[in-house]
Amino acid sequence: MSKTKAPINKNDYIDVTFEDLTHDGNGVAKVDGYPLFVANGLPGEKAKVKVTKLNKGYGFGRLMEVYEESEHRVVPTCPIYAQCGGCQLQHLSYEGQLLAKEKQVRDVMERIGKLENVTIHPVLGMEDPWRYRNKAQVPIGEREGGLIGGFYQRRSHDIIDMDECVIQHEQNDVVLRKVKEICGKYGVKAYDEKANKGVLRHVMIRYGIVTGEIMVVLITRTSDLPNQKKIIEEVTKAIPGIKSIVQNVNKKRTNVIFGEQTKVLWGEEVIYDYIGDIKFAISARSFYQVNPEQTKVLYDKALEYAGLSGNENVIDAYCGIGTISLFLAKKAKKVFGVEIIPEAIEDARKNAELNGITNAEFAVGEAEVVIPNWYKQGNKADVLVVDPPRKGCDQALLDTIINMKPEKVVYVSCNPATLARDLRILEDGGYKTVEVQPVDMFPHTTHVECVALIELK
Ligand code: SAH
Repeated sequence: MSKTKAPINKNDYIDVTFEDLTHDGNGVAKVDGYPLFVANGLPGEKAKVKVTKLNKGYGFGRLMEVYEESEHRVVPTCPIYAQCGGCQLQHLSYEGQLLAKEKQVRDVMERIGKLENVTIHPVLGMEDPWRYRNKAQVPIGEREGGLIGGFYQRRSHDIIDMDECVIQHEQNDVVLRKVKEICGKYGVKAYDEKANKGVLRHVMIRYGIVTGEIMVVLITRTSDLPNQKKIIEEVTKAIPGIKSIVQNVNKKRTNVIFGEQTKVLWGEEVIYDYIGDIKFAISARSFYQVNPEQTKVLYDKALEYAGLSGNENVIDAYCGIGTISLFLAKKAKKVFGVEIIPEAIEDARKNAELNGITNAEFAVGEAEVVIPNWYKQGNKADVLVVDPPRKGCDQALLDTIINMKPEKVVYVSCNPATLARDLRILEDGGYKTVEVQPVDMFPHTTHVECVALIELK
């Protein structure tokens, strides 16, 4: 039992042993049953902690000294790890990260899902867990007349300059440095948030890791980009492989990065990339997975779990730009994708055409409305794939699954806690969770993706 009344006082220095890691990467120590969350603490470590905040039921502390280090503690690779906040687990070895993520999945399957006899596999990690991101998106500021850009310092809006990011593809670092230098040289002012003045707000870079194609997106406050012609000339000369330069205009005083208006300044509207042998067209605003290598691992697993023979009707709910749908289409009779964002469905249709896939159809709408309607009209799926956002599946969708009774459900999830909750609902509705495969799509962060196979009992 955890105590509600704290047995310690604010500003106390206490010695603790960390027992666990939270889903957001904090160490957990218990003081007479009262849980204390401490950034940077690792399970097994004995440490001195300063108590910084006490709530009813739990508190927070700051790590002051580690007496006994975890065998998995490592020196973070990134020199700005502590300031940035983009990664949360670089002080833990990669092996340790995979074990912690596996434990996190096991814990929620037991505690929230109350699931028995489910095989939970070890996390599928990357052989080389660095430099995996294909997209960089950085805020721009100014220092001594030059442009800087990288990230906001933790808990502030001060911009810190970043020369390289060890989870970004090397190419993105090079391109970002050149774009900052060239825009600075031609007098482009950085956006000033406080005064709502200046021009360049963010720079986004997308890189097709398979094709080598590069897109640069300049997000500006003004429609006008000073010295546009010269900037384009130099950027295209400095960056071989560049296929597209795009401007997005965001005049609003907001934290939202993109504005409504997007125009191609030079080259193509899209770049291309592949996941497996499926080709994708990626525009400035399209959603595209940031770690395509591990995306393939995840989708191959989803395809394996779907166990298709070529005769099945498959529904892909929350289909986005149709990534999973197109993977499934090659092995199914017919795939029906559903997604709430109209632009994503346009991309899905274009991507089907691009790959000569004719047995995939896409519909715009809420999965929990569209799929029950299909069912009412007598359209039933043999296999249903879901890949919902963090909050998990809507109850109405789960109810429809339980009534429709597809042989198999394949659940792709970016949040183990809502996955476990939904698996419990399906279990109570006549399904059995057979196995869960966690996949590490975002090394050095606390995220973990899972794919689960669920069968009719
Ligand atoms: N399967 C896709 C994307 C999954 S992300 C891929 O792998 O690329 C989850 C998607 O669900 C997002 O595209 C989001 O726009 C969509 N979404 C969110 N709520 C939804 C709802 N109620 N009905 C249908 N789609 C929804």
